[in-house]
Amino acid sequence: MSGDLKYWLVDYIRTQGPLSIAQFMAFALHHPDGGYYTSRARLGRSGDFLTAPLASPMFGELIGLWCVQTWADMGAPNPVRLIELGPGTGVMMADMLRAARVCPDFLDAVRVSLVETSPGLAERQKRSLARAPAPPDWTTRLDAVADDAPTLIVANEFLDCLPIRQFVRVEGAWRERRVGVNPDDPERLAFIANPASIGPADLAILPQAWRGAAPDGALIEARPGVEPLLADIKHRFAQCPGRALFIDYGPAESELGDTLQAIAGHRKVDPLEAPGAADLTARVDFADLADQAKRLGLRVDGPLEQGVWLNALGLGVRAEALATAQPDQRASLRTQTARLAHSDQMGKLFKSVVLSSFDLPIAAGFAPITV
Ligand code: SAH
Repeated sequence: MSGDLKYWLVDYIRTQGPLSIAQFMAFALHHPDGGYYTSRARLGRSGDFLTAPLASPMFGELIGLWCVQTWADMGAPNPVRLIELGPGTGVMMADMLRAARVCPDFLDAVRVSLVETSPGLAERQKRSLARAPAPPDWTTRLDAVADDAPTLIVANEFLDCLPIRQFVRVEGAWRERRVGVNPDDPERLAFIANPASIGPADLAILPQAWRGAAPDGALIEARPGVEPLLADIKHRFAQCPGRALFIDYGPAESELGDTLQAIAGHRKVDPLEAPGAADLTARVDFADLADQAKRLGLRVDGPLEQGVWLNALGLGVRAEALATAQPDQRASLRTQTARLAHSDQMGKLFKSVVLSSFDLPIAAGFAPITV
């Protein structure tokens, strides 16, 4: 889109009426002409935001070894399908497959499928994975990936960009928070509460913890895309055994409050100011995710803090082995380890959760440590 997605949105809202936050996010992230992921998506140090795989190759390496362990727990099936949702630059999968070279039988069995909506990022993934020991295929939707084999799914910072809806409590009822045109400035967007309260169908999508009473002024978020995603996973795991690992940021228990966040150039910016120019995410409600998965009959391990989980998988041992082999890298490895696992950085806010078919044992890294 030449110019600005914002003006397109202002025109659209003038004719169609205000948008739910989810519709706004979908346009701002995926509009074919100007959406952030469709046209801009700058990941990395010199871009808009840094994710764990971009902060340290050890992250993807440990997840690659976790996949090999999980595959062994499944009885080493050949073939096994490895799906990544929202692979970004493709660096995590490249690191995973490099680490998996320790197990040639796994590499012989694995069929890699990447699910990515952004054409630009898919190109970048192709470059990152050009020399991967297992060549991937690409789709834009999970339901287009064949469910013909036992499956491993991995997704880092994928759930946080699935669109959310927001609801505010007004006079004892929930009203949807939406994006409209600013009444004082017709060139700007503004958040507005819908005048009418929501009906029973919308009430059913709210996280269980908040369907009943909440104080006036409270704001809650719901992520409608989670339910069909879990239903697809459940269906897949009913055909063949499987395990899905999600890593993302958010609280272990459901919380109230507005967590919609726009990031550009590593800074928080106003989500309505320049849609399409910033990444938009919101915290993942892990308690609700686990609750929905259990109700579908999936086994749930976690959520566990990322730092605790990575240390259980051997992050410290891996960093020490690398530092011994390359002493000039010791300081950099220390910085990377802190970034991934320290509670002031990604270690506490980020969580890992694993959903499995019921016949599988507890996922690696989730067993209580006994000494
Ligand atoms: N996992 C990567 C990238 C995270 S950014 C990392 O950790 O570095 C989010 C990624 O999800 C991007 O690749 C984005 O294009 C992709 N994405 C967002 N919404 C998607 C959707 N609905 N389906 C598939 N991919 C999506």
